[in-house]
Amino acid sequence: MAKLIDGKAVSAQVREEVKQAVAQRVASGKRAPYLAVVLVGDDPASASYVRGKARASTEVGIESDTLTYDASISEAELLDIVAKLNNDAGVDGILVQLPLPDHIDDRKVIHAIDPAKDVDCFHPESVGTLVIGLDGFQPATPAGIVELLKRSDIETSGAHCVIIGRSNIVGKPLANLMLKKGLDSTVTVCHSRTKDLPGIARQADILVAAIGRANFVTADMVKPGAVVIDVGINRVDDDTRERGYRLVGDVDFDAIEPIASHITPVPGGVGPMTIAVLLQNTLMAANRA
Ligand code: NAD
Repeated sequence: MAKLIDGKAVSAQVREEVKQAVAQRVASGKRAPYLAVVLVGDDPASASYVRGKARASTEVGIESDTLTYDASISEAELLDIVAKLNNDAGVDGILVQLPLPDHIDDRKVIHAIDPAKDVDCFHPESVGTLVIGLDGFQPATPAGIVELLKRSDIETSGAHCVIIGRSNIVGKPLANLMLKKGLDSTVTVCHSRTKDLPGIARQADILVAAIGRANFVTADMVKPGAVVIDVGINRVDDDTRERGYRLVGDVDFDAIEPIASHITPVPGGVGPMTIAVLLQNTLMAANRA
């Protein structure tokens, strides 16, 4: 039976640490860190994520405002808003909620954010800093996974970490973090063109699934005793639920839980860590300013 890695509990611990550090900062006479969140359009999922981020910020003493704009805003207007936030010394972190409407180039907007305020760690300079292994902002979901591993006392040094998925927000940045000095894993990244993916997955001491397909990782892909981290969030129909669906990960939890040494549940595993890392990044931005 695998040990369950409790993302809610670890996230609460990290948020408490940020709260104490913010309180110390304020007690020393400095102002509270300030996060500007930019929300364009009325996508309910984006609005809900943004509310969660604002609430979590307030809880740890980080001030934040959500700047909301109609979906019809032009790219030039949005770039102008980002430039104003860049130049405002009272703003420590800038987060532009993605996706943006089709007529706006996400990349142009992300690249316009001052790297010193890039708390989402999406700017090419932040990504470069990560790849070189220098200290900087942490990519939220990958750094959340690393916190889960560290605080569960999982040995990463020399471990073979197999990551399934090569996205820019999970797979690639996680590969770079796991390679960093201090974590020192041997990393393999698998993707949709990988040959014999089950055979490679079975070599993993730490197996991370970030694909976006329910039950993609089956028991035959897991070495007994492996640590299994499930990043996926997938909706599957469920008539027993009032909303008609439930959320599951990419891992066949019931089949793998008996053979893994540690496993993250979905929900309640990797998900809660993302906001905790955003708060850490915002505090870091303020302390560096
Ligand atoms: P993505 O769609 O950008 O990338 C998916 C990756 O899976 C791609 O690199 C692709 O090569 C790989 N893939 C697809 N089909 C495959 C196959 N048949 N075999 C091997 N590899 C295959 O997705 P993403 O943004 O990285 O997100 C992945 C999942 O993680 C989604 O379910 C998403 O909702 C979830 N997610 C969760 C969090 C969190 O906080 N828990 C954060 C980000 C993403």
